Order: sequence, then structure tokens, then C-alpha cells
Amino acid sequence: MKQIVAIDGPSGSGKSTVAAMLATKLGYMHLDTGAMYRAVALAAALDNLPYDDARRLDELCEQIRIEMRRNEGVVSVYLNGQDVTEEIRTPEMSLGSSAVSAVPEVRSHMVRLQREIGSSGGIVAEGRDMGTVVFPDTPAKFYLDASPEERARRRWLQLKELGIEEAPEKVRREMDERDQNDTSREHSPLKKAEDAIIVDTTGMSIDQVIEKLADKVKELEESGA
Ligand code: C5P
Repeated sequence: MKQIVAIDGPSGSGKSTVAAMLATKLGYMHLDTGAMYRAVALAAALDNLPYDDARRLDELCEQIRIEMRRNEGVVSVYLNGQDVTEEIRTPEMSLGSSAVSAVPEVRSHMVRLQREIGSSGGIVAEGRDMGTVVFPDTPAKFYLDASPEERARRRWLQLKELGIEEAPEKVRREMDERDQNDTSREHSPLKKAEDAIIVDTTGMSIDQVIEKLADKVKELEESGA
């Protein structure tokens, strides 16, 4: 039976790369829920809304349309019909998404949408609360982590690939700030689900991580879970 694969972890843990490749390997859909919060932050910035104005963010979430469109294996993020895949990756939107995602009204809109997309299975959903809140009943739950130094290095590389040159210390500082927001917020903080399989990706290659996860998912598919 096709599974709902829930992958959580902090920024730089490797979850986005792993989730995308795992989805391709399994023939599943990839759902990047961080991209959804980033799209909300972008929509708020475009409307000059403060990132903590719960009432107006609630209204904004009612109005905007966030879509994931798949084209030749690449998933692009659309906000109200416009491709915003690149705009949502800037350092500003990283901090903005972390701020709007602490607003419960925003979370409830996103969680509803995520469940709608994922409930019939055949999905690799990645984020911060996939195993704890959005899909707590799935047996295919993973928590990816890596050392803070390695995560900051990956994040720096990721930005560089996007053409954004940042000082390594700044990347590390912003990553720490976001980790702090994400783990200490009141609603759905980033934490390991009790039954999640924890994978420390620090010394592992992407292929090794994918193999580990894919083996577990295949086992669950065959067991009929
Ligand atoms: O995964 P990514 O770094 O793109 O996520 C951006 C921000 O969105 C995170 O810092 C986090 O605050 C928020 N987020 C969340 N819940 C999720 C996914 C992302 O709160 N399921």
C-alpha cells in the first residue's frame, strides 16, 4: 500500500533534497511544506503585512492560492498563478516564513491544505510537524538531523547555488535564529515524533540516506501497513 512518508528536521538536515529524490525513487509526490509557509511570507511582504498580524494573515490565507506544479520532475511553487519558486528562497523569506509559521491561524490553513493533498497516500511530505501534527498516524516517519556546522555549510552552499553570496557567519547566525524560533514556538514546534526513525545525515551521502529511507518505506508498503 502506498504510504504517507513524513520527514521532519531542521534547516540543512538534508530533508528537501532527500524528500525530492525519495519521491522520485518511490514514484510518490513530493510535498515541500516549508515552501508553503515561504509563499505565505512572500504574500504578506507583497501586501506590506506585518508577519505577526494574526487577523490579517488569517484573511490573507483565505484569499491566496498556493499550488505545487510538477513539470518534467521539477516541482515549482505558484502563488496566485505566478511562479515564485526562486523568490521564496531568499534569506528574507527564510526568516519571514519562520515568523508567519508561528501564527496558529496560518498553521491551521496550511495543515488543512497539506492533509487534503496528502491524505490518499503516495506522498513524501517534508517540514517541521509532518510526523507530530499533520500526519501523526503514518508509520513512515523520519527525523533528519546533522551537526550545526554541517547544516550551516549546506545552507551556505544552497544560497550560493541560487546566486546569493552571504558571509558564512551570517548564514550560521540566521540559521541559529530560525532554529530557535522553530523549536521554541508555542504551536507545533519542531520536535521529534516519539516513533520517528532518527537519521543523522552528517557523515552520510545523499544516496545512503535515501537508501535507508526507501528500504523502510518498501518494507511498510509490502506489509500492507
Ligand atoms: O523547510 P524550510 O526551511 O523551507 O521552511 C521555512 C520555514 O517554514 C521554517 O523555518 C519553519 O519555520 C516553517 N515551517 C513550519 N512547518 C513546516 C514547514 C516549515 O513551521 N511544516
